Amino acid sequence: MISRRKFIKACFAAAGIAAFGSCGSRSWASPRAEGGAANVPEHGGAYRPRYLTLAASGELERREQELWKKMDSCSLCPRMCGTNRMAGRKGICSSDHTFRVASATPHHGEERPLVGRNGSGTIFFSNCNLLCIFCQNWRIAHRGEGRQTSHAQLADMMISLQNRGCHNINLVTPSHLSPHIVTALRLAIDRGLNVPLLYNSSGYETLEVMQLLDGVVDIYLPDFKFQDSEIAIPFLQGAQNYAEYAAVAIKEMHRQVGTLTQADGIANRGLLIRHLVLPENLAGTDVFSRWVASELGADTHLNIMSQYSPQFRANEFPPLNRRITQREFEQAMRWARQAGLRNFH
Ligand code: SF4
Repeated sequence: MISRRKFIKACFAAAGIAAFGSCGSRSWASPRAEGGAANVPEHGGAYRPRYLTLAASGELERREQELWKKMDSCSLCPRMCGTNRMAGRKGICSSDHTFRVASATPHHGEERPLVGRNGSGTIFFSNCNLLCIFCQNWRIAHRGEGRQTSHAQLADMMISLQNRGCHNINLVTPSHLSPHIVTALRLAIDRGLNVPLLYNSSGYETLEVMQLLDGVVDIYLPDFKFQDSEIAIPFLQGAQNYAEYAAVAIKEMHRQVGTLTQADGIANRGLLIRHLVLPENLAGTDVFSRWVASELGADTHLNIMSQYSPQFRANEFPPLNRRITQREFEQAMRWARQAGLRNFH
């Protein structure tokens, strides 16, 4: 078993080498290779990401260490499975102290303020802590398809996406990997990263981890999938109290960054919640709408999504074995409007 301190130290030593040479089998171009100093990003003006302030004060390093401590007896997510990942054991999320990335590319299919002209710099992590039985990305989330990646390589990906003009770094399924992300972020900051950091999560988060990410993340993009945890349990492979944890986490995200702010139509800070409408209102869209309006405010930015389709094991769980009807989606939007909500994407 490697000690946590030695492990982080080794990561930084490896990064020092990687910054000037090969970063492994994947060919992530360095900023120098792409034409000199880091680009001036097109993310809508002079927004300064929050993590730069945290890094300058030394607080980012302290947060990183706090996050790593949680991996000894893992409490990084509400599963709290207590696995010693630093000893190489895998938790419910099938992750030990290493991590994999499935893809890193500009993405033009996210909500418009996140995509802008040049795309959202999406880094798709393998494995997941929530494990929905209807997951459309089940090969990545459940099977863990992806390539083992070092912190230096992850920092390379961030810089490369910034240099391609992406307006943000969009971390997809980050919850089980927050220590890795902050370690790589520090490396990327040293190399000129200065676009907003976007945390794209299932919403199944602990308050403690969210508080450690205060000042690290600029844009939160959580799902709020279910409003009734008892209904949700069979669909989330036993994840306990999903609705309660998500509600607390999303309120904390909102406290940190507020409503979505944009410059020239491009988001630089704030909260945008995704809610997927499910057959027979299993997602509780009426309850969700009233909760958002009363707890966060009617101006909260939302994506109420109609595109549910049965994927992975959904056919075993009727009524999740069918798409939603036009009538179901119209009813969902009526509930949202009746609650006073108005910022839809
Ligand atoms: S992040 Fe993974 S190992 Fe850690 S508590 Fe959650 S499921 Fe368990």
